Amino acid sequence: MKSVLQRSLPFLFTGVLLAAPSYAADKLPNIVVLATGGTIAGAAASDVQAGYTSGQVGVDQLLAAVPQARKLAVLSGEQVANIGSQDMNDEVWLKLARRVNEVLAKPEVDGIVITHGTDTIEETGYFLNLVVKSKKPVVLTAAMRPSTALSADGPLNFFNAVAVAANKDAAGKGVLVVVNDWIHGASSLTKTSTTAVQTFMSPLRGLVGTVAYGEIEFFHGAVGKNTVDSEFSLDGVTSLPRVDIIMAHENMDGKMIDAAVAAGAKGIVIAGVGNGNMTKEGLDALAANAKKGIICVRSSRVVTGRVGRNVEVDDDKLALIASDDLNPQKARVLLRLALLKPRPLAEIQRLFQEY
Ligand code: ASP
Repeated sequence: MKSVLQRSLPFLFTGVLLAAPSYAADKLPNIVVLATGGTIAGAAASDVQAGYTSGQVGVDQLLAAVPQARKLAVLSGEQVANIGSQDMNDEVWLKLARRVNEVLAKPEVDGIVITHGTDTIEETGYFLNLVVKSKKPVVLTAAMRPSTALSADGPLNFFNAVAVAANKDAAGKGVLVVVNDWIHGASSLTKTSTTAVQTFMSPLRGLVGTVAYGEIEFFHGAVGKNTVDSEFSLDGVTSLPRVDIIMAHENMDGKMIDAAVAAGAKGIVIAGVGNGNMTKEGLDALAANAKKGIICVRSSRVVTGRVGRNVEVDDDKLALIASDDLNPQKARVLLRLALLKPRPLAEIQRLFQEY
């Protein structure tokens, strides 16, 4: 495959000096950009201040800010939302997922780029990974610095995301997230720094690939079942069941667990200490709720590593689920989709091993 440079500056390689790249626009892939807000669309009053507001710049301004991306694809934009992703909610998720499926069903569309905030991009990406019904590339991107900042990272992230979405080899790899030159699988990435540009890591499953100024190298495909192989569908779904995450800590009691159930949670995810552990009191409350039919998953507040069944906790006896390699926020996404219909515990455990 030709590199971006070769494709965008053909005169360098043919020896013919042309004034502009000779690019037939109709040969370029069609990429639809769905904007949801975030810091990539954020603005501050000055270029060196920490305070700013997410979701200030519209999709047209975002596209206009990176004209270089039009050398890679024919771009069209839609504003799905314009919020800081700390405000991400079910309404936007359902709207976004439906729009992604509608757009990808059009034969003339080759892929999608979604701009999003970094705070919850791992949850939105993983949600889409489970409910999008297409092999075409879906690439989320974001930025740590607002569009007005000195050394804003958004424009290059956007350019690289378009390059990945426009690349045929990105098809069939599940939903991808491109930030700071790295291509992550939606099931693997997690935000690890509150402020650093190099915030996203895929600690357990590794990177899907890298992309530098549009130059792509893929290392491996998607890990975990996704998209066309996923058994989840949003057909007829208008709301998602409530699942709460409760963090384990020193001296934990069962009150937060009981309060979550009283508030209507159908499932609980524990961000456990170590290998999904918690105090005896916490575990007693969890097991009591599991006995009543609340689906209780043990995940971990530790940034990497699997949570295995029956290690220090007798999951078989207490009717609990081990999250395997899903962190609490992703375990919550999977559990919400799993709870859309009644399933035996063994089947829910299988989902955690397969997705
Ligand atoms: N709070 C912002 C958001 O998630 C942070 C960011 O985008 O980097 O929308």
